[in-house]
Amino acid sequence: MVISLGLGTMLLSGMTKNEAKERIEKLRQLIEHHRYLYHVLDKQEISDAALDALKHELKQLEDQYPDLITADSPTQRVGGVALEKFAKVTHQAPMLSIEDVFSFTEFQEWEARIAKFVDGKSLEYYAMLKIDGLALSLVYEGGTLKSAATRGDGRIGEDVTHNIKTIEAIPLSLRQPSADEFAAIGVAPFDVTRGRFEIRGEVYMPKDAFETLNNERKERGEELFANPRNVAAGSIRQLDPTITATRPLEFFAWRMVSDVGQGTHSVGVEVVKALGYRPSLGRVAKTRADVQAFFDEIGKKRDALNFWIDGVVVRVNDDRVFDSLGIVGKTPRGIVAWKFPAEESTTVVESVDWYVGRTGALTPVATVTPTFIAGTTVTHATLHNADEIERLGLMVGDTVILTKAGDIIPKITRVLPELRSGKETSVPLPSTCPMCGSPVERREGEVALVCTNANCFAVERERVLHAVRAFGIDGLGDKIVEKLLNAKLVNTPPDIFTLTPDELQGVEGFAEVSAKKLADEIAGKKVIDLDAFIVALGIRHVGAETAFSLAQAFGDIDHLVHASKEELLSISDIGEVVADAIVEFFASEYALHVLAEYHKVGVHVNKAKAVKRTLAGLSFVVTGTLESMGRDEVKEKIRLMGGSVVGSVSKKTSYVVVGAEPGSKAQKAQELGVPVLNEAQFLKLLEG
Ligand SMILES: [Zn+2]
Repeated sequence: MVISLGLGTMLLSGMTKNEAKERIEKLRQLIEHHRYLYHVLDKQEISDAALDALKHELKQLEDQYPDLITADSPTQRVGGVALEKFAKVTHQAPMLSIEDVFSFTEFQEWEARIAKFVDGKSLEYYAMLKIDGLALSLVYEGGTLKSAATRGDGRIGEDVTHNIKTIEAIPLSLRQPSADEFAAIGVAPFDVTRGRFEIRGEVYMPKDAFETLNNERKERGEELFANPRNVAAGSIRQLDPTITATRPLEFFAWRMVSDVGQGTHSVGVEVVKALGYRPSLGRVAKTRADVQAFFDEIGKKRDALNFWIDGVVVRVNDDRVFDSLGIVGKTPRGIVAWKFPAEESTTVVESVDWYVGRTGALTPVATVTPTFIAGTTVTHATLHNADEIERLGLMVGDTVILTKAGDIIPKITRVLPELRSGKETSVPLPSTCPMCGSPVERREGEVALVCTNANCFAVERERVLHAVRAFGIDGLGDKIVEKLLNAKLVNTPPDIFTLTPDELQGVEGFAEVSAKKLADEIAGKKVIDLDAFIVALGIRHVGAETAFSLAQAFGDIDHLVHASKEELLSISDIGEVVADAIVEFFASEYALHVLAEYHKVGVHVNKAKAVKRTLAGLSFVVTGTLESMGRDEVKEKIRLMGGSVVGSVSKKTSYVVVGAEPGSKAQKAQELGVPVLNEAQFLKLLEG
């Protein structure tokens, strides 16, 4: 779709025809560069998926501007160039390439295109695996293998017969099927020793063999192979067949090229099988639903297969119809490769925005031209921090490779500077917070830029969201929190508990029922356990685990608020940094305000259950060795239960705990009349 603006034709993407022309030329150069690396030098710098994405973009631009198609465009050629070191074989019928589609929608578009050529008649297909290997043409004369050739440029391939003979899956002479077999297949019997027969298929390296090979290379300190197709290609194109023989290669036949009266692709597959070949897995698909079912089925089995496949090839089953559909460019119309969702694609970075997190750290996020990766449309990619932008050399407007592994947020893994038009701009590093305008700083030893304003809007939003999660309040997501903050209904987390159904109803997106529901949900979450409440406060470095330790150690929030750094450090899993952060937090005005507000709105914090503060107000001196616990543990237990541990005995000391081999302190206690506890008595006291 194009929009005419009177200033020349502008694509919806915003590209003028001149810009499209320039982009097309750059895409061609880059694709050619990587194809040369790949096909001629057997080197791979970017993934197949990324290269496919570039080719796909080129094809779409050329579809939009057919007059910009040139004979030397990568879309108009196949394979690579035959290496000089090999003898040349001219293919009797050219080995053409196959058009790729990347979704069911694109598959349906392909179907609609060919439907026009067959007057809308419904077509039967043959669907088969798309093996990730190297295509070969095998020619037999007099029943024996005469030549084996690579695709080359589609017209002229490389003669690799001597290497192919090392692959046991390829018969050196054709098997003669019996009359019964011919009858079962449905073709008239023929003599395999008479005439010329051509079979095509794919040579590949099995997954397990590839792994073994790479393990051996690793042990020898040799460079690892990047992917099995490269190894298969490299092995076949060795000048020394003894090297090829050491590489365990396999072969799947996928097509009987010679006309033996098969009439359809599926019968042709039966013929190759009878001639001694293992055909690629496939089946007749009568409808597009059948094709989809095959695609889904294979997608599920994919990982369990001992060879790599990257999609499903769908071909019009009837050979006569297939031929009548003809060729467009260098690809036959009647066949298409439907590829599995790629985990990588290319796209363009449209802008980089900085977001402020709960701790005030600024994270750059790239907005990209929507692209389809691993089954989902991606519009944003994380850039982690300013260092990452520098490492990538990223500019706004750059074409980049986007990778998505598992469920992780997509990541920009490579910039393609070759595609720059000159209009790219450097990514602005913020000197002020994009949310509140306060200066940003880089904390010592950290890579992140941080907003210096403790009350930054975004910081508040994240704080509120953080508290919402800690209180376990459902139905209060980031969008709603943002609206509540904008409406000044919420400023700090405790304000959540002041929200009334009426107030909520005034917020866009709420109706009477939903407002009441959320208000009820919030009211139901007013009682909270101490550890969850500590989490809700959002103290730096204090996660759920630390919060639990703090709750156990201090029992209630008042004790924690007044804890000294020394007391905090006496807790086994709390170090300097965390202790400082806690002290700093509770000394802040923000903390005072928030705690007072929580109290005012009626939030009830449950005391930590496990701790009985029965030793509150008591002071202890410990001397000698206890059997059941170490000295530090004794001290921590006493502190946990509210008591204090002092170093020397005085009249004020409540108890002296005496273990084995006590020092002079035990005697001092007796002199001063301070009660002395042996280990058993002390343990009893701890039990309460
Ligand atoms: Zn800010």
